Amino acid sequence: MERVFNFSAGPSCLPLEVLEKAQKELVVYGNSGMSVMEMSHRSSDFQAIIDECEALLRDLLGIGDNYKVMFLQGGASSQFAMVPLNLYKNKKADYVLTGVWAKKAAKEAGRYGDVKIVASSEDRTFSYIPKLDKSMFTPDADYVHITHNNTIYGTRYTSLPDVGNVPLVADMSSSILSQEIDVNKFGIIYAGAQKNMAPAGLTVAIVREDLIGNALDITPTMFNYATHAENGSMFNTPPTYTIYICKLVCEWLKGLGGIKEIQKINEYKAGLLYDFLDNSAMFKATVAKEDRSLMNVPFVTDSEELNAKFVKESKEAGLMNLKGHRSVGGMRASIYNAMPVEGVKALIDFMKKFETENK
Ligand SMILES: *Cc1c(COP(=O)(O)O)cnc(C)c1O
Repeated sequence: MERVFNFSAGPSCLPLEVLEKAQKELVVYGNSGMSVMEMSHRSSDFQAIIDECEALLRDLLGIGDNYKVMFLQGGASSQFAMVPLNLYKNKKADYVLTGVWAKKAAKEAGRYGDVKIVASSEDRTFSYIPKLDKSMFTPDADYVHITHNNTIYGTRYTSLPDVGNVPLVADMSSSILSQEIDVNKFGIIYAGAQKNMAPAGLTVAIVREDLIGNALDITPTMFNYATHAENGSMFNTPPTYTIYICKLVCEWLKGLGGIKEIQKINEYKAGLLYDFLDNSAMFKATVAKEDRSLMNVPFVTDSEELNAKFVKESKEAGLMNLKGHRSVGGMRASIYNAMPVEGVKALIDFMKKFETENK
């Protein structure tokens, strides 16, 4: 069977070049005589892979020396607990509710301290990013948490809130490596890798050094950033093969010209799709124009029946995983870095055809 265009929200498509390189190196990696899957994480071959992966991430994102880059497990969902456990001093944190993931993060932080919901867009099914003003934040909060890109609802922050000297913590699971960011504006950036970096199993945390080493006493060793920072992400066995694929993805990005270039491509792809949706008589985007995600594009028709027909027929046409999240309904196209422009064009062509056939 041919490869399809896979619009899955996560785990999601990987660049074909990366898969082919991994295939070539699958059985024997370099001069090691074995697969990366079979290597000791303490071997010099694997040490070179993780070092290179970190160096590439630092280079691509412009991560300064005052940040640690950690390769963790447990998904972004474990970070929902790790963040408060490591950052609580006054046991106060501010959360902005922009979707299901933000809610889950806030709920977890609420188990260890006082969480203040400074703003929410739940009143309109999280279809926008609330306006934020410095006066809304708690001056002695330990941190402010945002979900930078809302995978389910298709919103993203196009500018960052002014939180003063309080550390800004961002869940970037579905936007990391997709656009330029100023890492210095953040205390912590974390991301489950399975959307835009690698297959599932790896979580990347970028943590400012002064935020490491003051975890609450109850913090499990594995949930303490200091454990991983002090051991180069090798306190225990890291997800070695996923880190290797992450390295290949970073090499691919660098080859394209880095984050600046992929951002241009992402803006082009998203632009094509939103332009089509804004001009279609049948399909419409669900998100406020100014808050639209470059990565996840939800859309609907005004009929449940047509939505279901679209999902079914698009699948038959090799356009996979376009069914929207159950909490939004309709459709969602996830167009991460690895989705080629041709995939987005094929989707638009299919939508045009569908619209004509179902007038
Ligand atoms: C997918 C996703 C998560 C959950 O990630 P896991 O790695 O499955 O725990 C959290 N936040 C955002 C924004 C996501 O897109």
